Amino acid sequence: MARNSKIEWTHNTFNPWWGCSKVSPACKNCYAETWAKRVGNNIWGKENPRRFFTDKHWKEPLKWQREAENNSERTRVFCASMADVFERRAELNEHRNRLWELVYRTPSLDWLILTKRPQNIEGMVPWDNNNWPNNVWIGTTVENQKWADFRLPILLNLNAKVRFLSCEPLLGEIDITSYNAASDTNKIDWIIAGGESGPHSRPMNPNWVRSLRDQCINEEIAFHFKQWGHWSPHSLLTSTQKKTITIEDTEMTATGKKASGRTLDGRIWDELPSSA
Ligand code: SF4
Repeated sequence: MARNSKIEWTHNTFNPWWGCSKVSPACKNCYAETWAKRVGNNIWGKENPRRFFTDKHWKEPLKWQREAENNSERTRVFCASMADVFERRAELNEHRNRLWELVYRTPSLDWLILTKRPQNIEGMVPWDNNNWPNNVWIGTTVENQKWADFRLPILLNLNAKVRFLSCEPLLGEIDITSYNAASDTNKIDWIIAGGESGPHSRPMNPNWVRSLRDQCINEEIAFHFKQWGHWSPHSLLTSTQKKTITIEDTEMTATGKKASGRTLDGRIWDELPSSA
């Protein structure tokens, strides 16, 4: 299967535009903003423009659709890594509408749409909440309990085929059990968790991610551990090098994302929702 993404849980990524504004603590060290600046684009914040793309860019998913169809397989497409599809700005409307057309034209692609603005979803998608396209998975970021309390009920109210949470960067302990128990039908299907990467990263207490994993096991939610990120538990390391920090009694060491890896309690957690 062709893939253009290095992100473990998707095959491809597609961005309908680049650029965004920060909305919550998870955005503090936004990787997309850093990357955009590095390649010369000043497109972050309310005042700055967004970057839009030509037809050639928009044809890429149609190529993935043909490939998936020819191989009789489904392809996951993460949307968006360099923007938030549900940012409210007038000039985004035509590009968002173009995205929905693309979604309808690519039934062999599963569109994994992740947002930090779930409150805008219902007013911005062209379909009724009882009639979600089968190929759209909807996710929201929850980095701590405060944002889980705000975003999770909104997500669970959406009748999408797959609802998922991105708990990355994980910035505190999160309890999702009461929300998941609130409905017999509208459940969380998948949780992706991980620590922050980059030199200004905030460390993730291993117990926060263990707690999420255990809730997933108990609630039969698929769990994916993406990475420790910049900081890893000191106990996992064989040498005593580099800067350390103590977070709630756990010593963490700045090793960088590559060295810290993605093993949690002796195994890789790579689960996908059952409908995948
Ligand atoms: S919503 Fe996403 S893309 Fe937008 S600023 Fe926050 S982290 Fe960056």
